[in-house]
Parts: sequence; structure tokens; C-alpha cells
Amino acid sequence: MRKKIAVLPGDGIGPEVTQEGVKALKAAAARFGHDFRFAEAEVGYAAYDSSGTCLPADTLALCKESDAVLFGAVGIPARDPQTPPADRPEMAALLPLRQKLGLFANLRPAVLFPFMVDATSLKPELVEGGLDIMVVRELLGGLYFGEPKGREGTGATERAVDSMIYTAGEIERIIHTAARVAMKRKKRLCSVDKANVLATSQLWRDVATRVLQQYPDLEVTHMLVDNCAMQLVRSPRQFDVIVTENTFGDILSDEAAMLTGSLGMLPSASLGEGAFGLYEPVHGSAPDIAGLRLANPIATILSAGMMLRYSFGMEREADAVDAAVALTLGSGARTRDLAPDSKNGLSTDEMGSRIAEAIVDQRGL
Ligand code: NAD
Repeated sequence: MRKKIAVLPGDGIGPEVTQEGVKALKAAAARFGHDFRFAEAEVGYAAYDSSGTCLPADTLALCKESDAVLFGAVGIPARDPQTPPADRPEMAALLPLRQKLGLFANLRPAVLFPFMVDATSLKPELVEGGLDIMVVRELLGGLYFGEPKGREGTGATERAVDSMIYTAGEIERIIHTAARVAMKRKKRLCSVDKANVLATSQLWRDVATRVLQQYPDLEVTHMLVDNCAMQLVRSPRQFDVIVTENTFGDILSDEAAMLTGSLGMLPSASLGEGAFGLYEPVHGSAPDIAGLRLANPIATILSAGMMLRYSFGMEREADAVDAAVALTLGSGARTRDLAPDSKNGLSTDEMGSRIAEAIVDQRGL
């Protein structure tokens, strides 16, 4: 199968880790006989320096004409004081990119491999056998975008307002996305809301209940967000897929991620209508280690694996990437963030090459 992939390395460790993501995709293409074409474009301060904007028009155009985007990270905190807030990468690149590409669903898996249970902040017995949770977060609605929004007045009467707004259509499409994701996994879906208090959540629950009747094979539950936050640390193995609105998802996806203990291992996907998606590690540009070959590339490699599964429908290929990561880690390979006391940690490219080799030949380990 032929696919066109836009690669946006960005700032800091972005170029180092996307290079390893591309290596993994090339390995999968070689093993399974696909033709992946890669085209690179600038984003973040890297783009600001050459074209005066963090999201140049040709970068956006490349994304729109591609089948999927592999994104590194943007941001250099030391540059922010000299840059107007609206021109900084978060405001000028990340949010507009999601909006302009219509990416309304954010998928954040939190996977803890059984042989890495030491990394969790929970008691080991709570995560015995490992963890595999997927948080599906609505990304373009709710409090972050609702109008009216802003501050007015001064002194004791100064007031601020944010508006939580959802339409039935916005809820329907994210519930369908989550249901399709759950169908590819253990077929358990938990819809999270605050329906005992919020009108938006009451609509959410009504729409979710109605839409999910179309998926009789799914085991569906509804949970209040405060209870979900507790259950994630009390008994996380009860969850397969969690679907929720923007703000709740922002918080719960970080909570779920921390159960696995390691920022360098967390991938994500942002999906819209159809197969197109943007794939990126959860971590930022890590300027403290940029250029030192210390970055863990696994979050980006697992993001590339998600691209194969969710944009290209290549289940076997995606399974091969996930298995290669598990096999490589299982063989004891570690980057420095995973083994701070070891003097023999692998560099970014060494880890990337080990995983790429394991994608091509999984018997090699
Ligand atoms: P960060 O995720 O970049 O780094 C936090 C800590 O984790 C650092 O100590 C870093 O060295 C370490 N770390 C991160 N990724 C790692 C990896 N792959 N391997 C090994 N160690 C890793 O978060 P931050 O320091 O708060 O932010 C730095 C910049 O990144 C800021 O400008 C921030 O706005 C930006 N940021 C961008 C994105 C994005 O592009 N989507 C996301 C988060 C933060």
C-alpha cells in the first residue's frame, strides 16, 4: 500500500525522536511490502526562525495533502519571553493545527509492560500483569473553546467566565470514534461525565447511551468523573477504553499516563473524520537533553505504530511495532530515562535501531 506521511520534527528533541519514528515506519514498510513516502516540513520555533510563523502555510498544506502526520514536539521555553504569547508555538502551531485539520479525538494509551511495573507510582500489586488503558478525549469542544470567555472589570467585582458547551453532534462523533477504538481492543467502554451536576454532561450521557446502542458487542459503563479519578488509582485494571470531554480528558489522560511512570514511553493520536490523523509523543521538546542523544524515542515509535493502526488500518504492522518495543525492552534495552543508574543506557538512535531491527525480524531477540 502506498501512503504519504508528513513529518514535522519541530524543536528540541523533536528531530531526534521523529527520525526514529520514521526508521520504525520504514522497517514496517520493508517487512510488509508497503511504499511509504515521507515529506518533511518545519513547525515551532524552527519554522518561526526561517519564516516568521510557527505554522507556515506550506506546512499546513503538506499536512492536508498527506495521509497522516508524524509530529515531534514544539517549544523552547528560553525563547518565550522575547516572543508575543500569540506567536508562541502552543498558541500559533499546536492549537491551530488541531483545529484546521479538524482533529476532534485525542487517543492516549497508557501501557505498563509487566516487566516494568517498578516504574509505576502505584503499589505493584495494583498493576500486576501490567496495564493497558486508552483514554479518548474530545479535543475541540467544551471549556477550552466555548464562548463567552474572558475577564472583565476590576477589584472585587472583576469576573472571569469560561463556557462549557457541547452539541449533540460533537458528542456523537467522539462516542463513535471511542466505540470503534474499543471494538479493536477488549470491547469495554467507560463513558465519563458529571451528569449529576452539569447540563453538558446530561446531554453527553443521553447521546452516549443512544449512540452506543449501535454497538451491542461493547460492554458499556457510565462513570462520574470524580469516581473515575479515584478508580484509576484504586483499581486501574478495570478500564479498557475511557471516553470523555475535553477538560476531564486532559486531566484523566495525564493521571492514567502517570500510572505507567515514564513520559518517554507515551504515544498519542489525534483523529478527525475519516482516516487522517496526527501522531505525536505526549512529551514536549525536552530542551534540557536536546542534541545529547539521550531522548527516549519509544513514545514516538509507538505513535508511529498508532498511525499504522488507526490511519492506515494496518493491524498486523501495528502489532509488529508494539511487539518490537515490548521485545526490545524485554531484552533489557533501556535509554537513560528508564535506567538512570546505568552507565550503559542506549542512545536515542541505538534504541531506535534495535526496535527497527526487531520490527523486521522479531525472532532476532
Ligand atoms: P517536556 O516533556 O519537554 O520535559 C519534561 C522532562 O521530561 C524533562 O526533564 C525532559 O528531559 C524529560 N523528557 C521528556 N521527553 C523525554 C524523552 N523522550 N526521553 C527522555 N526524557 C524526556 O516538558 P517541559 O520541560 O515542561 O516542556 C518543554 C517544552 O516543550 C516547553 O516549551 C513546552 O511548552 C513544550 N511542550 C510541547 C508539547 C508538544 O509539542 N506537544 C507538549 C508538552 C510540552
